[in-house]
Amino acid sequence: MTLSSRRVVTRFAPSPTGFLHIGGARTALFNWLFARHHAGTALLRIEDTDQKRSTPEAVDAIINGLAWLGLDHDGPVVFQSTRSERHREVALKLLEHGHAYRCYATPEELAEMREQQRAARQPIRYDGRWRDADSAHVAPDTPFTVRIRMPRSGCTTIADAVQGEVTVANSELDDFVLLRADGTATYMLAVVVDDHDMGVTHVIRGDDHLNNAFRQLPLFRAMDAVEGGWPDPVFAHIPLIHGSDGAKLSKRHGALSVEAYRDEFGILPEALFNYLLRLGWGHGDTEEISREDAIRLFDLSGVGRSPSRFDLRKLEHLNGHYLREADDARLAALVAERLELPVARDLLVQAMPFIKVRARNLNELAEGARFLAAGEPRDLTDKAEALLSGDGRRHLGIAAEALASTHWDGASLEAALVAAAAGAGLKLGQLAQPLRAALTGTTSSPGIFDVLVLLGREESMRRIRAHLAPGAPQNHLATDGGDARV
Ligand code: GLU
Repeated sequence: MTLSSRRVVTRFAPSPTGFLHIGGARTALFNWLFARHHAGTALLRIEDTDQKRSTPEAVDAIINGLAWLGLDHDGPVVFQSTRSERHREVALKLLEHGHAYRCYATPEELAEMREQQRAARQPIRYDGRWRDADSAHVAPDTPFTVRIRMPRSGCTTIADAVQGEVTVANSELDDFVLLRADGTATYMLAVVVDDHDMGVTHVIRGDDHLNNAFRQLPLFRAMDAVEGGWPDPVFAHIPLIHGSDGAKLSKRHGALSVEAYRDEFGILPEALFNYLLRLGWGHGDTEEISREDAIRLFDLSGVGRSPSRFDLRKLEHLNGHYLREADDARLAALVAERLELPVARDLLVQAMPFIKVRARNLNELAEGARFLAAGEPRDLTDKAEALLSGDGRRHLGIAAEALASTHWDGASLEAALVAAAAGAGLKLGQLAQPLRAALTGTTSSPGIFDVLVLLGREESMRRIRAHLAPGAPQNHLATDGGDARV
């Protein structure tokens, strides 16, 4: 069966040595989208053969991060460490058919070889000393590694679905190790065996693996020669993500875990999904792309060849868009987790349309919802305090009087306040601003009539009175002492 007639199978193959960072998440996303677009299969393989560096926490972080982003996988998770017998079996098969050979060189000998190559300014690579050597005289219990017999002449060309045709002279590739002296498989062998056994048709991964593809392809071909049914996969090596300054992405740029974007930055999964998609893939200039459209439109031809730049501001801008689109009950639940103050859930839901207008993340949303909590505002910002100084408190009194006898709905409250301002020869803002300060403790909040309606008559009047009463606490936060108070 040729590859093109097979149903698409992709895999995401992270090594669980740390959290799921955004580069990995984007690789997972592209694999997932490609599979879904082609109604194929998206597999997950945890490459945990490096037992010293792999941790169960990292496995959980990867699985949870993918689930949060909605990147489900088909079938059970494959743990590479459970497949070591099979890796060994393939190495021995290659050995048996002459595509691999035993190398008895000791680590010391190889170190010396490398030292000589360094001194002679030659490329560092295995020199093939056991490739055609006679091993008849070797004692039976001598430790050995199994090395692949790579093609020596000619070139290997990969028609990479992202990078285009890339060619490497075979003379540049050495006979690398398949099985270590302790009988364990190397990464290079394990990946090829697993990709074959899992039926992977498309290997989509970071372009830091492009060099590996030139070692993996001959392995597929050797096994295909041995038993058939090992077609070349399609390779697609996607450029890495760089920071906004063009340097390779690191922690300094916010190369953080997916969990950190969720927990610390308050990003919604659909925003990160959309942002990661746009980071390296384009469909015209469209920025906002839904999950459904992404599945419909995604293809490897839209993946660019140059590194993309990560920009937190752009991510937050997209996040703001998704916050405004998000269901208010869902947002209320997310905000409730972040608010250290109790707010009735109904009230939070009701307030959400007004609060989310300007927010870029869940932290800002929570900050904007603070004023809804009973007992607030506990502290006034300096600016809010300033609005209640000078004539502010007197104006608050005028507003209070006008509101006290008004029907408590937006239109009536507005009419009452407009009339009171006109009666006192003031602008509406001169009443509304001290009112906002007293009700919310801040100078930026939803519209003042929405605030009044959300808080209700009783709570609003209580907060206003607290600032009118003689001896009421007037300044909790002011540190600059520059405002003149009544
Ligand atoms: N486990 C490798 C990594 O995390 C990826 C291997 C592959 O995709 O072929 O970098």
